Amino acid sequence: MDKVQSALQTLGLTPSEKGGSLGASFFGSGEVIESFSPADGRSIGGVQAVTRQEYLRIVSSAQEAFRYWRKVPAPQRGEIVRQIGLALRKYKEPLGILVSYEMGKIYQEGLGEVQEMIDMADFAVGLSRQLYGLTIASERPNHRLMEQWHPLGPVGIITSFNFPVAVYAWNAFVAAVCGDPVVWKPSEKTPLCAVAVQKIIGDVLKENNVPEGVFTLAVGGREVGEWISEDPRLPLVSATGSIRMGRIVGQKVAARLGRTILELGGNNAAIVTPHANQDLALRAIIFGAVGTAGQRCTTTRRLILHADIYEEFLEKLLKAYQQLRIGHPLDETVHIGPLIDEQAVQVYLRALDTVREQKGRFLLEGGRMADMPSPYYVSPSIAEMPEQMPITCEETFAPLLYVMKYHDLEEAIELNNAVPQGLSSAIFSDNFQECEYFISPEGSDCGLANVNAGTSGAEIGGAFGGEKDTGGGREAGSDSWKAYMRRQTNTINYGKDLPLAQGIKFDF
Ligand code: NAD
Repeated sequence: MDKVQSALQTLGLTPSEKGGSLGASFFGSGEVIESFSPADGRSIGGVQAVTRQEYLRIVSSAQEAFRYWRKVPAPQRGEIVRQIGLALRKYKEPLGILVSYEMGKIYQEGLGEVQEMIDMADFAVGLSRQLYGLTIASERPNHRLMEQWHPLGPVGIITSFNFPVAVYAWNAFVAAVCGDPVVWKPSEKTPLCAVAVQKIIGDVLKENNVPEGVFTLAVGGREVGEWISEDPRLPLVSATGSIRMGRIVGQKVAARLGRTILELGGNNAAIVTPHANQDLALRAIIFGAVGTAGQRCTTTRRLILHADIYEEFLEKLLKAYQQLRIGHPLDETVHIGPLIDEQAVQVYLRALDTVREQKGRFLLEGGRMADMPSPYYVSPSIAEMPEQMPITCEETFAPLLYVMKYHDLEEAIELNNAVPQGLSSAIFSDNFQECEYFISPEGSDCGLANVNAGTSGAEIGGAFGGEKDTGGGREAGSDSWKAYMRRQTNTINYGKDLPLAQGIKFDF
């Protein structure tokens, strides 16, 4: 039995997940979404989508579960998430294989995604004993002013294909310790990863007699995402994906005065100054540009090089690209797997034509590769751009790196900021002033600004997200949890008088 079959078996996934209720999972009776591996084009299995009626029932079950879950003390909610973290440790390898095979990222990155889930579980467990509010000095005698954080309600989570499990964990584990049930609509391109995660969680819920409605799954296409956006029973929708999707979801949720966390596309630049440790910069830029075949929101898409090191650095970069191995993502000697599907290949090939039309010059011209296990393998490209062009302002979800030249740091930062997206950015320099300037208020306008570390590969401890068209959301670490709770300000008078704020007199 090959690795994939044995992973599917360990995860309890039969070749075709059609209908039925398995553990806490909920599968619909709607159309079958067939999942194809981009690695070899083979069908892995089908998952039935939910119908409208089934969706309505799922959200009702989450609402019902909310009445129970919000009363469970937060540290006890954390205990459930702790056990989920333990279960994920147990299934790390088979789930890592499934992520790699269904999404196409290399096995090491598949394992990394599951590790990110485990890290998020650990973080959420700690958080479950915190969730602290403030006590504020009151202007009135014998008064206490304070803030508390209460659970918000069921949260809709819409996720993208490129992080089929980790992005869910950023949201779901934090939401769960905050007291919010979740309704997960995974990408229709990676439904089996979602089913596998749902089963792992379902077993933990069952062992602890937690109602299934706390973690629910609603597999389906974009219409399920639309139902979530329009559903007033979901006070918060966290949506990860393209800017196009975020604009629609953002407007729909805003129309019903709901809240959103939007994690949308990036167009991330790395600046290399004459003071950079070039070997370090080179490693970070290559991982950033070609890792996950350029299908990360934080992928390095633009390289901004100082004129003094321009030729030298490009020479090293091109040499290093020659060493990259492209192939089956489960082959552990490979650095780059396939793109997700034919549409993604077409978008890449069209972008290469556009680069040519928009004054770009290829230093390395990639394209579709022949004689690979599927038609979705592409080789990476590097294009020199004389200036910012419409194509360099777009996110092409593929291994396409633009190179630009700069003369002074202000100009480099202007280039960094001159795109509609604002997710990640990096500077490579051993010069203190340059580094501080880059992360100062006049520097990078992105949600993530790194010094001597690449644009991709964030840790979960920090708040993750970006500005401008990236949507402004923050997820994972730091105080991102506050978005999943409602703040309540309490004024408590423990005296016998009724002094009014601002010294107002109202005697009668
Ligand atoms: P996508 O926008 O095509 O789909 C994302 C999800 O949204 C899917 O579940 C999809 O079914 C759903 N969806 C699509 N249209 C919808 C609509 N009108 N209403 C509601 N839901 C809808 O994105 P994708 O191709 O899966 O993912 C790639 C994109 O995600 C890239 O732009 C990438 O930068 C972005 N991304 C961002 C982050 C981040 O944290 N900022 C993380 C990962 C991916």
